[in-house]
Amino acid sequence: MRLPVLYWERKVSAVRSLEEVLVDWEAVIGLEIHAELTTLETKMFCNCKLEFGADPNTHTCPVCLGLPGALPVPNRAAIESIVLAGLATNCDIEKRSMFYRKNYMYPDMPKNFQTTQGSVAFCMRGHLDLDVDGPAAKERYQLDKLAVGDERENIVRTDSGYRAHVGITRIHMEEDAGKMVHLGGGEGRIAGATHSLVDYNRAGTPLIELVTEPDLRTPEEARLFMQKLRQIYLAIGISDCSMEEGSLRCDGNVSLRRRGAKEFGTKTELKNMNSFKNLHDGLAYEICRQAEVLEEGGQIYQETRHWDPSQKRTIVMRVKETADDYRLFPEPDLAPYDLSDEFIESVRAKLPELPEQKAARFAQDFALSAYDARHLVEHRETAAFFEACMELAGKDATTLSKPIANLIINDVTAYLNANEGVVLADTQFTPARALELVRLLADDTISSKQAKEVFAAVMEEGLDPAAIVEARGMKQVSDTGAIEAVVDGVLAANPDKVEQYKGGKTGLIGFFVGQCMKEMKGQGNPKVINELLAKKLS
Ligand code: ADP
Ligand code: ZN
Ligand code: MG
Repeated sequence: MRLPVLYWERKVSAVRSLEEVLVDWEAVIGLEIHAELTTLETKMFCNCKLEFGADPNTHTCPVCLGLPGALPVPNRAAIESIVLAGLATNCDIEKRSMFYRKNYMYPDMPKNFQTTQGSVAFCMRGHLDLDVDGPAAKERYQLDKLAVGDERENIVRTDSGYRAHVGITRIHMEEDAGKMVHLGGGEGRIAGATHSLVDYNRAGTPLIELVTEPDLRTPEEARLFMQKLRQIYLAIGISDCSMEEGSLRCDGNVSLRRRGAKEFGTKTELKNMNSFKNLHDGLAYEICRQAEVLEEGGQIYQETRHWDPSQKRTIVMRVKETADDYRLFPEPDLAPYDLSDEFIESVRAKLPELPEQKAARFAQDFALSAYDARHLVEHRETAAFFEACMELAGKDATTLSKPIANLIINDVTAYLNANEGVVLADTQFTPARALELVRLLADDTISSKQAKEVFAAVMEEGLDPAAIVEARGMKQVSDTGAIEAVVDGVLAANPDKVEQYKGGKTGLIGFFVGQCMKEMKGQGNPKVINELLAKKLS
């Protein structure tokens, strides 16, 4: 097919923000998410070892090199993994399914076809529910028109945002291709390269592809879906889900339709969304681009596009192929599958507690909000840390759960984000120290601002919180008499501001608190300061 004039390839002016565009247009998004089953020992149809980073072409054999006469033998553990993934995402397990050959010639695929499933796959008709809140909820059109509990399309308004029901069409089994390295050009790209090398270690790696229904409506929902799925896959242990190393990859399909329209528009497919941020930003850009083209009377072509985060734009890669182009036909070397009930039940018995169930348990057992519980289980290590704290807290568990949750969700998470690769269990911050810290805070020995300093010091010096408070003379001053003297002094020194405050500029309270804190070198109890100021200024 010849491409029409490439006038739509110019960069979007991006004068309008995503939120503005989404007032006139509704975005329709569906994801295709590939996960390599990296935790398995061997490849999908041969017993070559799975190992990331091994010397090139050291894990190959006649089957994965596609040599004549070699016959595939399916990996039972891989089938267990995909069934586990299906059960964890509310899918029906299809007892009877089969493999097909998807024919194409490319050097990374020596067999000249990929062995993959068709539209009937091991896992069908699943769903995940997404909790969207905070700034992420802002991308949903007219959410504020709904009252808590109201339903619209596939969402329900909750007190902190909304819950969206996202359908999963299927999860099917396939195999990965080899890896190409392009040399002699710029940045390893094929364009401008003088020659290419191919490593077949990855060829034949078991891969599962999850396809969602076109139920997502905002880039944030796409990001949250991907995050939630990653948490589930990690919990069931089927993949290391490294977006950087490519063991978890996502393609985003997106189209626009006018608000109120029923028909879907033409979609484009975005590749290379190798981080949560890229997935969000690529989709957001593509939505703005499509809106601009459509508003100028242009047309969207069904094509595959590449998101370039450094240039912040998408670039056309190729026009869409169809199943016919691939001459898809049943794989003659593999018999169709008949999964037994016993097999499915034996896999179901291996399902661990899933993040959502863990969050529900935390909320119930430790009187936490759904929001706090959800954020605690985002990472397995923070969830485990929280549980260790609660166990240690004993009878104080329910009174200390909220401050511990805050500490983990805010300070600990920020620390881990800032120190990539650091494992919480290897740091100086132990559950015992976390409890000591929140107790110092709870009994007003230190302020919340000081608690942040103590947390940083524990990480750095490896001392107990109480010892740090002692050594730094950080004790918070809560004595009303001492604070009152400071408050009086500050008010007396700023008569003009006091006048303005009484005239209605109540925002000045922050100024007065700040001045008092400064006088007290950050050690005044902000609660007492606020109370005294309020009393004296009224
Ligand atoms: P294709 O045949 O082009 O691969 P599929 O029907 O297999 O398309 O769908 C691929 C993905 O695209 C799915 O996640 C699906 O939800 C999504 N999708 C389908 N149609 C649209 C559309 N009009 N806009 C956005 N996403 C869509
Ligand atoms: Zn092999
Ligand atoms: Mg498809």
